[in-house]
Amino acid sequence: MKEAEIRNFCIISHINHGKSTLADRFLELTGAVKGNKMRPQFLDMMDLERERGITIRMQPVKMRYNLNFKSYDLNLIDTPGHVDFSYEVSRSLAAVEGAILLVDASQGVQAQTLANLELAQKQNLTIIPAVNKIDLEQSKVEESVGELANLLKVNQEDILRISAKTGKNVPQLLEAVITRIPPPRQNRDMPFRALIFDSEYDLYKGIIAYVRVVEGEIKNGQKILFFAAQVEAEIKEIGYFKPEPVPAETLSAGEIGYIATGIKDPGKVRVGDTIMKAGLKLKPLPGYREPAPMIFASLYPEDSDDFDLLKTALLKLKLNDPSLTFESETKEALGRGFRCGFLGALHVEIVSERLRREFGLELIISTPSVVYKIISKEGKEKFIYGANDWPDSLQGITIEEPWAFLEIITPSCYIGRILNIFRNLRGVYIKTEYLSSDRVILSYEIPLSEIIANLYNKLKSVTKGYASMNYRILGFKPGDLVKMDILIAGKKEKAFSKIVPRDRVYEEARLLVKKIKDNLPPQQFAVAVQAAVGGDIIARETLKARRKDVTAPLYGGDYSRKRKLLEKQKKGKKKLKEKGAVRIPPEVFLSVFKE
Ligand code: GDP
Ligand code: MG
Repeated sequence: MKEAEIRNFCIISHINHGKSTLADRFLELTGAVKGNKMRPQFLDMMDLERERGITIRMQPVKMRYNLNFKSYDLNLIDTPGHVDFSYEVSRSLAAVEGAILLVDASQGVQAQTLANLELAQKQNLTIIPAVNKIDLEQSKVEESVGELANLLKVNQEDILRISAKTGKNVPQLLEAVITRIPPPRQNRDMPFRALIFDSEYDLYKGIIAYVRVVEGEIKNGQKILFFAAQVEAEIKEIGYFKPEPVPAETLSAGEIGYIATGIKDPGKVRVGDTIMKAGLKLKPLPGYREPAPMIFASLYPEDSDDFDLLKTALLKLKLNDPSLTFESETKEALGRGFRCGFLGALHVEIVSERLRREFGLELIISTPSVVYKIISKEGKEKFIYGANDWPDSLQGITIEEPWAFLEIITPSCYIGRILNIFRNLRGVYIKTEYLSSDRVILSYEIPLSEIIANLYNKLKSVTKGYASMNYRILGFKPGDLVKMDILIAGKKEKAFSKIVPRDRVYEEARLLVKKIKDNLPPQQFAVAVQAAVGGDIIARETLKARRKDVTAPLYGGDYSRKRKLLEKQKKGKKKLKEKGAVRIPPEVFLSVFKE
Protein backbone atom coordinates (compact mmCIF):
# COMPACT_ATOMS: atom_id res chain seq x y z
CA MET A 1 0.00 0.00 0.00
CA LYS A 2 1.22 3.50 -0.84
CA GLU A 3 2.13 5.50 2.20
CA ALA A 4 -0.24 8.21 3.26
CA GLU A 5 0.87 11.79 3.68
CA ILE A 6 0.65 13.21 7.18
CA ARG A 7 -0.93 16.40 8.49
CA ASN A 8 -0.71 17.27 12.19
CA PHE A 9 -3.05 19.96 13.47
CA CYS A 10 -5.09 21.15 16.40
CA ILE A 11 -8.18 23.24 16.93
CA ILE A 12 -7.87 26.33 19.08
CA SER A 13 -10.50 28.81 20.22
CA HIS A 14 -12.11 30.51 23.16
CA ILE A 15 -14.01 28.13 25.45
CA ASN A 16 -17.34 26.92 23.99
CA HIS A 17 -16.73 28.12 20.46
CA GLY A 18 -17.18 24.57 19.17
CA LYS A 19 -13.80 22.81 19.01
CA SER A 20 -14.96 19.46 20.36
CA THR A 21 -18.10 19.56 18.21
CA LEU A 22 -16.01 20.26 15.11
CA ALA A 23 -13.77 17.35 16.06
CA ASP A 24 -16.92 15.18 16.14
CA ARG A 25 -17.69 16.09 12.52
CA PHE A 26 -14.11 15.26 11.51
CA LEU A 27 -14.38 11.89 13.25
CA GLU A 28 -17.57 11.16 11.28
CA LEU A 29 -16.27 12.41 7.94
CA THR A 30 -13.19 10.25 8.20
CA GLY A 31 -15.08 7.28 9.60
CA ALA A 32 -12.81 7.24 12.67
CA VAL A 33 -15.87 6.79 14.86
CA LYS A 34 -18.79 4.81 13.45
CA GLY A 35 -22.17 6.53 13.40
CA ASN A 36 -23.79 4.37 16.06
CA LYS A 37 -20.91 4.98 18.49
CA MET A 38 -20.96 8.74 18.02
CA ARG A 39 -21.88 10.98 20.92
CA PRO A 40 -21.52 14.77 21.19
CA GLN A 41 -18.05 16.06 22.12
CA PHE A 42 -16.70 12.55 21.63
CA LEU A 43 -13.15 13.53 22.53
CA ASP A 44 -14.12 14.85 25.95
CA MET A 45 -13.48 11.49 27.54
CA MET A 46 -13.54 12.33 31.23
CA ASP A 47 -16.92 12.31 32.97
CA LEU A 48 -16.05 15.64 34.49
CA GLU A 49 -15.51 17.11 31.02
CA ARG A 50 -18.81 15.78 29.78
CA GLU A 51 -20.78 17.12 32.74
CA ARG A 52 -19.29 20.57 32.70
CA GLY A 53 -19.20 20.70 28.92
CA ILE A 54 -15.58 21.79 28.92
CA THR A 55 -12.41 20.20 27.67
CA ILE A 56 -9.76 19.88 30.35
CA ARG A 57 -7.28 17.57 28.72
CA MET A 58 -6.01 17.57 25.20
CA GLN A 59 -6.98 14.48 23.24
CA PRO A 60 -5.14 13.24 20.15
CA VAL A 61 -6.78 11.20 17.39
CA LYS A 62 -5.51 9.77 14.11
CA MET A 63 -7.88 9.82 11.12
CA ARG A 64 -7.57 8.64 7.51
CA TYR A 65 -9.02 10.79 4.71
CA ASN A 66 -8.96 10.50 0.94
CA LEU A 67 -8.77 13.57 -1.24
CA ASN A 68 -8.25 13.54 -5.02
CA PHE A 69 -7.23 9.87 -4.98
CA LYS A 70 -4.61 10.39 -2.31
CA SER A 71 -4.70 9.17 1.29
CA TYR A 72 -3.87 11.38 4.21
CA ASP A 73 -3.24 10.56 7.84
CA LEU A 74 -4.65 13.44 9.82
CA ASN A 75 -3.52 13.73 13.42
CA LEU A 76 -5.81 16.04 15.33
CA ILE A 77 -5.33 17.22 18.90
CA ASP A 78 -8.43 18.71 20.54
CA THR A 79 -7.45 21.32 23.15
CA PRO A 80 -9.05 23.09 26.11
CA GLY A 81 -9.88 26.79 25.76
CA HIS A 82 -9.81 28.10 29.33
CA VAL A 83 -6.88 30.29 30.36
CA ASP A 84 -5.89 27.98 33.22
CA PHE A 85 -5.18 25.25 30.70
CA SER A 86 -3.10 27.21 28.23
CA TYR A 87 -0.06 25.12 29.16
CA GLU A 88 -2.04 22.19 27.80
CA VAL A 89 -2.64 24.17 24.60
CA SER A 90 0.99 25.16 24.17
CA ARG A 91 2.06 21.52 24.53
CA SER A 92 -0.35 20.42 21.79
CA LEU A 93 0.85 23.26 19.58
CA ALA A 94 4.43 22.05 19.83
CA ALA A 95 3.37 18.70 18.38
CA VAL A 96 1.69 20.01 15.21
CA GLU A 97 2.31 22.15 12.10
CA GLY A 98 -1.02 23.93 11.87
CA ALA A 99 -4.08 25.08 13.79
CA ILE A 100 -7.71 25.78 12.99
CA LEU A 101 -8.67 29.00 14.76
CA LEU A 102 -12.37 28.80 15.46
CA VAL A 103 -14.58 31.77 16.33
CA ASP A 104 -18.20 31.45 17.41
CA ALA A 105 -20.14 33.82 15.12
CA SER A 106 -22.68 34.55 17.86
CA GLN A 107 -19.88 35.73 20.19
CA GLY A 108 -17.15 37.10 17.95
CA VAL A 109 -13.47 37.17 18.83
CA GLN A 110 -13.01 36.58 22.59
CA ALA A 111 -10.15 36.92 25.05
CA GLN A 112 -8.86 33.38 24.66
CA THR A 113 -9.12 33.63 20.89
CA LEU A 114 -6.41 36.27 21.14
CA ALA A 115 -4.36 34.38 23.72
CA ASN A 116 -4.41 31.05 21.89
CA LEU A 117 -3.72 32.69 18.54
CA GLU A 118 -0.68 34.35 20.07
CA LEU A 119 0.58 30.96 21.31
CA ALA A 120 0.12 29.42 17.84
CA GLN A 121 1.88 32.29 16.11
CA LYS A 122 4.82 31.94 18.49
CA GLN A 123 5.22 28.34 17.23
CA ASN A 124 5.06 29.56 13.60
CA LEU A 125 2.04 27.39 12.90
CA THR A 126 -0.10 27.73 9.80
CA ILE A 127 -3.41 29.22 10.94
CA ILE A 128 -6.69 28.32 9.26
CA PRO A 129 -9.34 30.77 10.43
CA ALA A 130 -12.98 29.66 10.52
CA VAL A 131 -16.17 31.20 11.81
CA ASN A 132 -18.47 28.65 13.45
CA LYS A 133 -22.18 28.38 14.35
CA ILE A 134 -23.42 30.01 11.14
CA ASP A 135 -26.65 28.04 11.62
CA LEU A 136 -27.60 30.12 14.67
CA GLU A 137 -30.10 32.87 14.02
CA GLN A 138 -28.37 35.33 16.34
CA SER A 139 -25.00 34.79 14.67
CA LYS A 140 -23.29 37.81 13.18
CA VAL A 141 -21.29 35.94 10.60
CA GLU A 142 -19.93 38.80 8.53
CA GLU A 143 -19.01 40.86 11.61
CA SER A 144 -17.07 37.93 13.07
CA VAL A 145 -15.37 37.35 9.73
CA GLY A 146 -14.44 41.03 9.70
CA GLU A 147 -12.96 40.86 13.22
CA LEU A 148 -10.93 37.77 12.36
CA ALA A 149 -9.70 39.20 9.07
CA ASN A 150 -8.56 42.35 10.89
CA LEU A 151 -6.85 40.37 13.58
CA LEU A 152 -4.98 38.06 11.20
CA LYS A 153 -4.50 40.65 8.46
CA VAL A 154 -5.94 38.29 5.84
CA ASN A 155 -8.68 38.61 3.23
CA GLN A 156 -12.24 37.88 4.27
CA GLU A 157 -12.43 35.17 1.54
CA ASP A 158 -9.71 33.18 3.32
CA ILE A 159 -11.96 32.66 6.31
CA LEU A 160 -14.24 29.65 6.21
CA ARG A 161 -17.83 29.90 7.41
CA ILE A 162 -18.98 26.65 8.98
CA SER A 163 -21.46 24.99 11.28
CA ALA A 164 -19.84 22.32 13.40
CA LYS A 165 -23.33 21.30 14.46
CA THR A 166 -24.93 20.74 11.05
CA GLY A 167 -21.67 19.92 9.30
CA LYS A 168 -22.05 22.71 6.74
CA ASN A 169 -18.73 23.49 5.00
CA VAL A 170 -16.86 21.13 7.33
CA PRO A 171 -15.50 19.01 4.40
CA GLN A 172 -14.08 22.22 2.90
CA LEU A 173 -12.39 22.96 6.19
CA LEU A 174 -10.85 19.49 6.29
CA GLU A 175 -9.59 20.02 2.75
CA ALA A 176 -8.07 23.31 3.80
CA VAL A 177 -6.20 21.41 6.52
CA ILE A 178 -4.69 19.21 3.81
CA THR A 179 -3.95 21.94 1.28
CA ARG A 180 -2.82 24.76 3.57
CA ILE A 181 -0.92 23.00 6.38
CA PRO A 182 2.51 21.67 5.39
CA PRO A 183 3.34 18.00 6.01
CA PRO A 184 5.76 17.37 8.89
CA ARG A 185 9.42 16.96 8.12
CA GLN A 186 10.15 13.25 8.15
CA ASN A 187 13.73 12.46 8.93
CA ARG A 188 13.23 8.72 9.14
CA ASP A 189 16.85 7.80 8.62
CA MET A 190 18.04 9.58 11.71
CA PRO A 191 18.15 7.90 15.14
CA PHE A 192 14.83 7.88 17.02
CA ARG A 193 13.87 10.99 19.02
CA ALA A 194 10.36 11.87 20.20
CA LEU A 195 8.85 14.64 22.32
CA ILE A 196 6.58 13.64 25.22
CA PHE A 197 3.62 16.02 25.17
CA ASP A 198 1.39 14.18 27.66
CA SER A 199 1.29 11.01 29.73
CA GLU A 200 -0.99 8.86 31.82
CA TYR A 201 -0.83 5.93 34.19
CA ASP A 202 -1.96 2.44 33.33
CA LEU A 203 -2.06 -0.26 35.96
CA TYR A 204 -0.78 -2.95 33.58
CA LYS A 205 1.32 -1.17 30.97
CA GLY A 206 2.91 1.36 33.32
CA ILE A 207 3.26 4.95 32.29
CA ILE A 208 2.03 5.67 28.80
CA ALA A 209 3.80 8.54 27.06
CA TYR A 210 1.96 10.50 24.36
CA VAL A 211 4.60 11.40 21.80
CA ARG A 212 5.29 13.29 18.63
CA VAL A 213 8.07 11.47 16.79
CA VAL A 214 10.48 14.05 15.44
CA GLU A 215 13.14 11.84 13.88
CA GLY A 216 13.71 8.18 13.09
CA GLU A 217 11.52 5.21 13.84
CA ILE A 218 10.84 2.93 16.79
CA LYS A 219 9.59 -0.65 16.94
CA ASN A 220 7.91 -2.69 19.61
CA GLY A 221 10.28 -4.22 22.14
CA GLN A 222 13.15 -1.82 21.41
CA LYS A 223 15.16 -0.12 24.13
CA ILE A 224 14.60 3.57 24.78
CA LEU A 225 16.10 6.21 27.04
CA PHE A 226 14.25 8.95 28.92
CA PHE A 227 16.69 11.79 28.72
CA ALA A 228 15.85 13.87 31.82
CA ALA A 229 15.68 10.94 34.22
CA GLN A 230 18.41 8.97 32.37
CA VAL A 231 16.26 5.87 32.73
CA GLU A 232 16.20 3.10 30.15
CA ALA A 233 13.17 0.97 29.39
CA GLU A 234 12.02 -1.67 26.97
CA ILE A 235 8.91 -0.70 25.04
CA LYS A 236 5.87 -2.71 26.11
CA GLU A 237 3.54 -1.46 23.40
CA ILE A 238 3.32 1.31 20.83
CA GLY A 239 0.32 2.53 18.91
CA TYR A 240 -2.00 5.29 17.73
CA PHE A 241 -5.06 7.02 19.14
CA LYS A 242 -8.19 6.24 17.16
CA PRO A 243 -9.11 7.83 19.61
CA GLU A 244 -8.91 4.73 21.82
CA PRO A 245 -5.39 3.29 21.83
CA VAL A 246 -4.77 0.84 18.97
CA PRO A 247 -1.46 -1.09 19.04
CA ALA A 248 0.92 -0.85 16.07
CA GLU A 249 4.34 -2.25 15.12
CA THR A 250 6.21 0.99 14.41
CA LEU A 251 5.99 4.72 15.00
CA SER A 252 7.95 6.96 12.67
CA ALA A 253 9.03 10.56 12.18
CA GLY A 254 6.15 13.00 11.80
CA GLU A 255 3.65 10.74 13.57
CA ILE A 256 1.73 11.14 16.81
CA GLY A 257 1.11 8.11 18.99
CA TYR A 258 1.82 6.49 22.33
CA ILE A 259 4.57 4.43 23.90
CA ALA A 260 3.74 2.18 26.87
CA THR A 261 6.89 2.13 28.95
CA GLY A 262 6.27 -0.40 31.69
CA ILE A 263 7.71 2.18 34.10
CA LYS A 264 5.70 2.39 37.31
CA ASP A 265 7.39 5.35 39.00
CA PRO A 266 5.51 8.51 37.93
CA GLY A 267 8.56 10.68 38.63
CA LYS A 268 10.59 9.16 35.79
CA VAL A 269 8.48 10.13 32.79
CA ARG A 270 8.25 13.88 32.40
CA VAL A 271 6.15 15.83 29.93
CA GLY A 272 8.48 17.88 27.72
CA ASP A 273 11.26 15.31 28.00
CA THR A 274 12.74 13.50 25.01
CA ILE A 275 12.49 9.75 24.47
CA MET A 276 15.40 8.54 22.36
CA LYS A 277 17.03 5.38 21.18
CA ALA A 278 19.12 3.98 24.05
CA GLY A 279 22.87 3.73 23.91
CA LEU A 280 23.56 6.49 21.35
CA LYS A 281 24.32 9.61 23.43
CA LEU A 282 21.83 11.79 21.51
CA LYS A 283 20.87 15.35 22.43
CA PRO A 284 17.41 16.12 23.83
CA LEU A 285 14.75 18.11 21.90
CA PRO A 286 13.94 21.66 23.08
CA GLY A 287 10.91 20.60 25.21
CA TYR A 288 8.70 23.12 27.00
CA ARG A 289 9.16 25.86 29.49
CA GLU A 290 7.07 24.72 32.43
CA PRO A 291 4.84 27.48 33.77
CA ALA A 292 5.54 28.46 37.37
CA PRO A 293 2.45 28.06 39.53
CA MET A 294 1.46 31.44 40.95
CA ILE A 295 -1.51 30.31 43.02
CA PHE A 296 -1.33 28.11 46.08
CA ALA A 297 -3.96 26.32 48.12
CA SER A 298 -3.77 23.71 50.86
CA LEU A 299 -5.49 20.39 50.41
CA TYR A 300 -6.35 18.27 53.46
CA PRO A 301 -8.16 14.95 53.46
CA GLU A 302 -11.33 15.17 55.55
CA ASP A 303 -10.43 11.77 56.90
CA SER A 304 -6.85 12.02 58.15
CA ASP A 305 -6.27 8.33 57.31
CA ASP A 306 -6.46 9.29 53.64
CA PHE A 307 -3.17 11.18 53.67
CA ASP A 308 -1.24 8.47 51.81
CA LEU A 309 -4.04 8.03 49.30
CA LEU A 310 -3.94 11.77 48.63
CA LYS A 311 -0.21 11.59 48.07
CA THR A 312 -0.48 8.76 45.52
CA ALA A 313 -3.37 10.53 43.82
CA LEU A 314 -1.41 13.76 43.42
CA LEU A 315 1.55 11.87 41.93
CA LYS A 316 -0.71 10.19 39.40
CA LEU A 317 -2.57 13.38 38.50
CA LYS A 318 0.71 15.12 37.85
CA LEU A 319 1.38 12.66 35.02
CA ASN A 320 -1.12 14.36 32.77
CA ASP A 321 -1.14 17.70 34.54
CA PRO A 322 2.55 18.54 34.89
CA SER A 323 1.85 22.10 36.02
CA LEU A 324 0.53 20.81 39.35
CA THR A 325 3.07 21.02 42.19
CA PHE A 326 2.76 19.89 45.81
CA GLU A 327 4.60 19.70 49.11
CA SER A 328 3.40 18.17 52.35
CA GLU A 329 2.53 20.40 55.31
CA THR A 330 0.83 20.11 58.68
CA LYS A 331 -1.75 22.38 60.27
CA GLU A 332 -2.94 21.80 63.80
CA ALA A 333 -6.66 21.83 63.19
CA LEU A 334 -6.49 20.02 59.88
CA GLY A 335 -3.73 17.48 60.30
CA ARG A 336 -1.43 16.46 57.47
CA GLY A 337 -2.02 17.67 53.93
CA PHE A 338 -0.38 19.27 50.92
CA ARG A 339 0.30 22.78 49.84
CA CYS A 340 -0.30 22.68 46.10
CA GLY A 341 0.63 25.09 43.32
CA PHE A 342 -1.83 25.82 40.51
CA LEU A 343 -2.09 27.91 37.36
CA GLY A 344 -5.44 29.50 38.23
CA ALA A 345 -8.62 29.27 40.25
CA LEU A 346 -10.40 26.95 37.81
CA HIS A 347 -7.33 24.74 37.90
CA VAL A 348 -7.75 24.43 41.71
CA GLU A 349 -11.38 23.51 41.25
CA ILE A 350 -10.74 20.95 38.51
CA VAL A 351 -7.89 19.26 40.38
CA SER A 352 -9.91 18.92 43.57
CA GLU A 353 -12.87 17.61 41.64
CA ARG A 354 -10.68 15.04 39.89
CA LEU A 355 -9.25 13.96 43.26
CA ARG A 356 -12.76 13.44 44.52
CA ARG A 357 -14.03 11.52 41.52
CA GLU A 358 -11.06 9.57 40.33
CA PHE A 359 -9.69 8.72 43.78
CA GLY A 360 -12.74 9.01 46.04
CA LEU A 361 -11.10 11.68 48.22
CA GLU A 362 -13.11 14.16 50.27
CA LEU A 363 -10.99 17.24 50.77
CA ILE A 364 -10.81 20.51 52.64
CA ILE A 365 -9.31 23.17 50.38
CA SER A 366 -8.10 26.51 51.64
CA THR A 367 -8.93 29.72 49.80
CA PRO A 368 -6.37 30.01 47.00
CA SER A 369 -3.70 32.61 47.56
CA VAL A 370 -0.98 33.98 45.30
CA VAL A 371 2.72 33.48 45.92
CA TYR A 372 4.56 36.45 47.51
CA LYS A 373 8.19 37.46 47.34
CA ILE A 374 9.99 39.00 50.30
CA ILE A 375 13.23 40.86 49.91
CA SER A 376 15.38 41.38 52.97
CA LYS A 377 17.44 44.45 53.81
CA GLU A 378 20.45 42.68 52.33
CA GLY A 379 18.55 42.05 49.09
CA LYS A 380 17.98 38.33 49.71
CA GLU A 381 14.83 37.03 47.98
CA LYS A 382 12.48 34.38 49.32
CA PHE A 383 9.09 33.14 48.13
CA ILE A 384 6.28 32.61 50.58
CA TYR A 385 3.29 30.51 49.80
CA GLY A 386 0.80 31.39 52.47
CA ALA A 387 0.00 33.61 55.42
CA ASN A 388 1.71 31.25 57.83
CA ASP A 389 5.16 31.96 56.42
CA TRP A 390 4.61 35.71 56.65
CA PRO A 391 7.47 37.51 58.50
CA ASP A 392 6.66 38.67 62.04
CA SER A 393 8.17 42.05 61.46
CA LEU A 394 8.22 43.93 58.18
CA GLN A 395 11.06 46.24 59.29
CA GLY A 396 13.32 46.86 56.32
CA ILE A 397 11.64 44.14 54.30
CA THR A 398 10.04 44.65 50.89
CA ILE A 399 7.04 42.52 50.03
CA GLU A 400 6.22 41.88 46.39
CA GLU A 401 3.25 40.21 44.75
CA PRO A 402 2.60 38.94 41.21
CA TRP A 403 0.99 41.33 38.74
CA ALA A 404 -0.77 40.41 35.54
CA PHE A 405 -1.64 42.03 32.26
CA LEU A 406 -5.38 41.60 31.90
CA GLU A 407 -7.42 41.87 28.71
CA ILE A 408 -11.19 42.04 28.75
CA ILE A 409 -13.25 41.85 25.59
CA THR A 410 -16.75 43.26 25.96
CA PRO A 411 -19.58 44.90 24.05
CA SER A 412 -18.93 48.62 24.52
CA CYS A 413 -22.29 49.19 26.27
CA TYR A 414 -20.93 47.46 29.40
CA ILE A 415 -17.77 49.54 29.77
CA GLY A 416 -19.31 51.67 32.54
CA ARG A 417 -20.23 48.70 34.70
CA ILE A 418 -16.84 47.12 34.21
CA LEU A 419 -15.07 50.33 35.22
CA ASN A 420 -17.24 50.25 38.34
CA ILE A 421 -15.88 46.86 39.34
CA PHE A 422 -12.35 48.11 38.90
CA ARG A 423 -12.98 51.14 41.09
CA ASN A 424 -12.67 48.85 44.14
CA LEU A 425 -9.67 46.92 42.85
CA ARG A 426 -6.03 47.87 42.74
CA GLY A 427 -5.76 47.67 38.94
CA VAL A 428 -4.18 50.28 36.69
CA TYR A 429 -6.09 51.11 33.51
CA ILE A 430 -3.91 50.83 30.40
CA LYS A 431 -5.99 51.28 27.24
CA THR A 432 -9.15 50.64 25.23
CA GLU A 433 -8.95 49.29 21.69
CA TYR A 434 -11.83 48.77 19.27
CA LEU A 435 -12.20 45.26 17.88
CA SER A 436 -15.18 46.35 15.78
CA SER A 437 -17.59 49.26 15.92
CA ASP A 438 -19.29 48.06 19.12
CA ARG A 439 -16.81 45.71 20.81
CA VAL A 440 -13.71 46.70 22.71
CA ILE A 441 -10.61 45.28 24.37
CA LEU A 442 -9.96 46.87 27.79
CA SER A 443 -6.48 46.35 29.20
CA TYR A 444 -5.37 46.62 32.81
CA GLU A 445 -2.34 45.88 34.89
CA ILE A 446 -3.51 44.39 38.16
CA PRO A 447 -2.29 42.27 41.09
CA LEU A 448 -3.02 38.61 40.41
CA SER A 449 -4.71 38.31 43.81
CA GLU A 450 -7.48 40.63 42.60
CA ILE A 451 -8.09 38.39 39.60
CA ILE A 452 -8.37 35.15 41.54
CA ALA A 453 -10.81 36.68 44.01
CA ASN A 454 -13.71 35.89 41.72
CA LEU A 455 -13.15 38.66 39.15
CA TYR A 456 -14.27 36.45 36.28
CA ASN A 457 -17.69 35.79 37.82
CA LYS A 458 -18.15 39.46 38.67
CA LEU A 459 -17.41 40.42 35.05
CA LYS A 460 -19.76 37.80 33.74
CA SER A 461 -22.58 38.94 35.95
CA VAL A 462 -22.40 42.64 35.04
CA THR A 463 -22.17 41.91 31.32
CA LYS A 464 -24.87 39.21 31.10
CA GLY A 465 -22.10 36.76 30.28
CA TYR A 466 -20.81 38.71 27.27
CA ALA A 467 -17.40 39.72 28.60
CA SER A 468 -14.41 37.42 28.41
CA MET A 469 -11.03 37.85 29.98
CA ASN A 470 -7.50 36.58 29.75
CA TYR A 471 -4.33 37.42 31.64
CA ARG A 472 -0.65 36.75 31.63
CA ILE A 473 1.80 37.23 34.47
CA LEU A 474 4.01 40.31 34.21
CA GLY A 475 6.25 39.77 37.21
CA PHE A 476 6.48 40.94 40.83
CA LYS A 477 5.81 44.45 42.16
CA PRO A 478 5.89 45.82 45.70
CA GLY A 479 2.56 45.75 47.54
CA ASP A 480 1.31 47.29 50.78
CA LEU A 481 0.06 44.12 52.38
CA VAL A 482 -0.59 42.86 55.89
CA LYS A 483 -1.29 39.54 57.51
CA MET A 484 -4.66 39.18 59.15
CA ASP A 485 -5.09 36.50 61.82
CA ILE A 486 -8.29 35.01 63.12
CA LEU A 487 -8.76 34.22 66.82
CA ILE A 488 -11.50 31.89 67.92
CA ALA A 489 -12.14 32.02 71.68
CA GLY A 490 -8.84 33.83 71.93
CA LYS A 491 -6.88 31.14 70.13
CA LYS A 492 -5.26 31.79 66.77
CA GLU A 493 -6.65 29.53 64.09
CA LYS A 494 -3.82 29.45 61.56
CA ALA A 495 -5.83 27.94 58.74
CA PHE A 496 -7.86 31.16 58.52
CA SER A 497 -4.89 33.57 58.38
CA LYS A 498 -4.84 35.64 55.24
CA ILE A 499 -2.77 38.27 53.39
CA VAL A 500 -4.76 41.38 52.48
CA PRO A 501 -4.07 44.84 51.06
CA ARG A 502 -3.63 47.25 53.98
CA ASP A 503 -6.30 49.67 52.81
CA ARG A 504 -8.93 46.94 52.65
CA VAL A 505 -8.07 45.13 55.86
CA TYR A 506 -10.99 46.42 57.96
CA GLU A 507 -13.56 45.53 55.36
CA GLU A 508 -12.08 42.05 54.81
CA ALA A 509 -11.83 41.46 58.56
CA ARG A 510 -15.49 42.32 59.13
CA LEU A 511 -16.61 39.99 56.36
CA LEU A 512 -14.43 37.09 57.43
CA VAL A 513 -15.29 37.09 61.16
CA LYS A 514 -18.97 37.24 60.29
CA LYS A 515 -18.64 34.38 57.86
CA ILE A 516 -16.82 32.25 60.42
CA LYS A 517 -19.33 33.08 63.16
CA ASP A 518 -22.23 32.17 60.88
CA ASN A 519 -20.67 28.83 60.11
CA LEU A 520 -19.58 27.74 63.61
CA PRO A 521 -21.85 25.25 65.32
CA PRO A 522 -23.43 26.54 68.57
CA GLN A 523 -21.22 26.15 71.64
CA GLN A 524 -22.13 25.92 75.32
CA PHE A 525 -20.51 29.25 76.09
CA ALA A 526 -20.20 32.50 74.17
CA VAL A 527 -17.34 32.43 71.68
CA ALA A 528 -15.52 35.49 70.37
CA VAL A 529 -14.45 35.41 66.73
CA GLN A 530 -11.85 38.12 66.21
CA ALA A 531 -9.62 39.38 63.45
CA ALA A 532 -6.23 40.79 64.37
CA VAL A 533 -3.37 42.50 62.63
CA GLY A 534 -0.13 42.33 64.59
CA GLY A 535 -1.43 42.55 68.18
CA ASP A 536 -4.47 44.69 67.41
CA ILE A 537 -8.00 43.35 67.25
CA ILE A 538 -9.71 45.01 64.30
CA ALA A 539 -13.03 43.16 64.10
CA ARG A 540 -15.14 41.01 66.37
CA GLU A 541 -18.29 38.92 66.31
CA THR A 542 -19.70 36.92 69.18
CA LEU A 543 -21.32 33.57 68.83
CA LYS A 544 -23.99 33.42 71.56
CA ALA A 545 -23.98 30.54 74.01
CA ARG A 546 -26.47 27.82 73.49
CA ARG A 547 -28.09 26.78 76.74
CA LYS A 548 -28.36 23.09 76.78
CA ASP A 549 -31.10 21.81 79.01
CA VAL A 550 -29.18 19.05 80.74
CA THR A 551 -32.04 18.44 83.13
CA ALA A 552 -34.57 17.69 80.40
CA PRO A 553 -34.39 13.90 80.77
CA LEU A 554 -35.31 14.19 84.45
CA TYR A 555 -39.05 14.20 84.97
CA GLY A 556 -40.05 15.74 88.28
CA GLY A 557 -38.36 13.86 91.06
CA ASP A 558 -35.53 14.87 93.26
CA TYR A 559 -34.34 18.48 93.03
CA SER A 560 -30.86 17.69 94.32
CA ARG A 561 -30.14 15.56 91.27
CA LYS A 562 -31.14 18.41 89.05
CA ARG A 563 -28.90 20.80 90.95
CA LYS A 564 -26.01 18.38 90.75
CA LEU A 565 -26.32 18.14 86.98
CA LEU A 566 -26.46 21.91 86.60
CA GLU A 567 -23.38 22.24 88.79
CA LYS A 568 -21.59 19.70 86.64
CA GLN A 569 -22.52 21.57 83.49
CA LYS A 570 -21.23 24.81 84.95
CA LYS A 571 -17.91 23.22 85.88
CA GLY A 572 -17.57 21.63 82.45
CA LYS A 573 -18.22 24.94 80.75
CA LYS A 574 -15.67 26.64 82.94
CA LYS A 575 -13.11 24.02 82.07
CA LEU A 576 -13.85 24.31 78.36
CA LYS A 577 -13.55 28.03 78.63
CA GLU A 578 -10.22 27.82 80.39
CA LYS A 579 -8.83 25.59 77.73
CA GLY A 580 -10.45 27.81 75.11
CA ALA A 581 -11.23 24.67 73.22
CA VAL A 582 -13.68 25.18 70.45
CA ARG A 583 -13.59 22.22 68.18
CA ILE A 584 -13.98 23.40 64.61
CA PRO A 585 -15.54 20.70 62.49
CA PRO A 586 -14.16 20.26 58.94
CA GLU A 587 -17.40 21.54 57.40
CA VAL A 588 -16.69 24.96 58.87
CA PHE A 589 -13.42 25.22 56.98
CA LEU A 590 -15.16 23.91 53.89
CA SER A 591 -17.85 26.56 53.90
CA VAL A 592 -15.66 29.46 55.01
CA PHE A 593 -13.09 28.74 52.29
CA LYS A 594 -15.79 28.51 49.66
CA GLU A 595 -16.31 31.69 47.67
P1 GDP B 1 -15.42 23.76 22.90
O1 GDP B 1 -15.40 24.26 24.31
O2 GDP B 1 -14.75 24.75 21.98
O3 GDP B 1 -14.90 22.37 22.73
O4 GDP B 1 -16.97 23.77 22.44
P2 GDP B 1 -17.97 22.55 22.30
O5 GDP B 1 -17.68 21.76 21.06
O6 GDP B 1 -18.02 21.81 23.59
O7 GDP B 1 -19.32 23.34 21.99
C1 GDP B 1 -19.88 24.26 22.88
C2 GDP B 1 -21.38 24.37 22.64
O8 GDP B 1 -21.65 24.94 21.35
C3 GDP B 1 -22.08 23.02 22.62
O9 GDP B 1 -23.32 23.18 23.25
C4 GDP B 1 -22.27 22.71 21.15
O10 GDP B 1 -23.38 21.89 20.91
C5 GDP B 1 -22.47 24.10 20.57
N1 GDP B 1 -22.06 24.20 19.17
C6 GDP B 1 -20.85 23.88 18.66
N2 GDP B 1 -20.82 24.13 17.32
C7 GDP B 1 -22.05 24.60 16.99
C8 GDP B 1 -22.64 25.05 15.75
O11 GDP B 1 -22.06 25.06 14.68
N3 GDP B 1 -23.93 25.49 15.83
C9 GDP B 1 -24.63 25.51 16.98
N4 GDP B 1 -25.89 25.94 16.94
N5 GDP B 1 -24.12 25.10 18.15
C10 GDP B 1 -22.83 24.65 18.17
MG1 MG C 1 -13.90 21.14 23.97
